[in-house]
Amino acid sequence: MPAFIEAASPHTMNTYGRLPIALSHGQGCRVWDVNGKPYLDALGGIAVNTLGHNHPKLVPALQDQISKIIHSCNYYHVPNQEKLAAKLVELSGMTNVFFCSTGLEANEAALKLARKFGHDKGIEKPEIVVYEKAFHGRSIATLSATGNEKVQKGFGPLVEGFIRVPLNDVEGLRKATEGNPNVVAVFMETIQGEGGVNPMRIEYLQQVRELCDERDWLLMIDEVQCGMGRTGKWFAHQWAGIKPDVMPLAKGLGSGVPIGAVVAGPKAANIFQPGNHGTTFGGNPLAMRAGVETIRIMEEDDLMENAARVGAHLKGALEQALAGTSGLKEIRGQGLMIGVELTKACGALTQRAADKGLLISVTADTVIRLVPPLIMTTVEADEVVSILVPLIQQFLAE
Ligand SMILES: *Cc1c(COP(=O)(O)O)cnc(C)c1O
Repeated sequence: MPAFIEAASPHTMNTYGRLPIALSHGQGCRVWDVNGKPYLDALGGIAVNTLGHNHPKLVPALQDQISKIIHSCNYYHVPNQEKLAAKLVELSGMTNVFFCSTGLEANEAALKLARKFGHDKGIEKPEIVVYEKAFHGRSIATLSATGNEKVQKGFGPLVEGFIRVPLNDVEGLRKATEGNPNVVAVFMETIQGEGGVNPMRIEYLQQVRELCDERDWLLMIDEVQCGMGRTGKWFAHQWAGIKPDVMPLAKGLGSGVPIGAVVAGPKAANIFQPGNHGTTFGGNPLAMRAGVETIRIMEEDDLMENAARVGAHLKGALEQALAGTSGLKEIRGQGLMIGVELTKACGALTQRAADKGLLISVTADTVIRLVPPLIMTTVEADEVVSILVPLIQQFLAE
């Protein structure tokens, strides 16, 4: 195998602050770099590799699909679109699905749905409620919905028609929208991912659902990161016993094959008509097979239950090992979506963890984010703790 040459990327755009690591292959929750160094994967390609790496049930299914047809296009029916849509409808209690290829595309479709929902009601300038610290993607519309100036800086003018509110503050939401007839939707992540693993409270989700019903607004819940079983329910909002009207999905839905979906309930399912929206790659046979097989394997192997159990174990072990550590702000999250917030910026920990053979990320400057594959075992979770905790303690003591 060729040795990896550090910083040898003269031809790709300089869009990422990359670590000097190139991964070669993986098995389960373990990956190896091109130099043969092993790592425990607690990042899962940013909440994407639901089934880990080289899954013995997924790989043969994808090989079978590749040998049959990879792409056909939406001029024709794609049978697995209907199959995956039916499954998502069953799991969400919603009614119809549009397929695309990424998270931002799913959110872009949701924003278009909300605007057309407004126009269909005679609202010429529809406005959508979005949140502080939210992340919805990097297209011009989704970065405008995002609540992070770093993401927006240099790309103005931003798309108009957004009203920004703080998390978990229903009075704030009422105030910000009071007397405004142009509001058409509330758009949120159940647990903010990039913003620092910030959960919306159960009562807040219920209150927003009620308010949306009362005002005839769409409740649109971005489950791109927190969905697909990661929190121990299929979709994180299900912990609150509510249903959204629109739910964008992506990341974990295809276990690494690019895929996105917008799931709609009765209030939003018939807004798009032929010609209103589309995408070339969306719903292609390879992506659809990946989605169908991911959910099938998750059900067969009880991976949602595993995410809940191993996630609770991991969080508990971190809480115990870090109890009383000065410089630790909070450990939060649900299932296998865990954030460890420190009182100082800790981006340096990603390299230090990698040096010790652990892949993690740091988001919102101060939050260590763990979003491993849903196949992680408690033994592997203990290994995460045994590598990470001393690194955190040492870092905070510096
Ligand atoms: C990652 C993410 C997105 C954007 O997804 P892309 O596939 O990178 O476009 C949108 N919303 C949330 C909540 C995400 O975590």
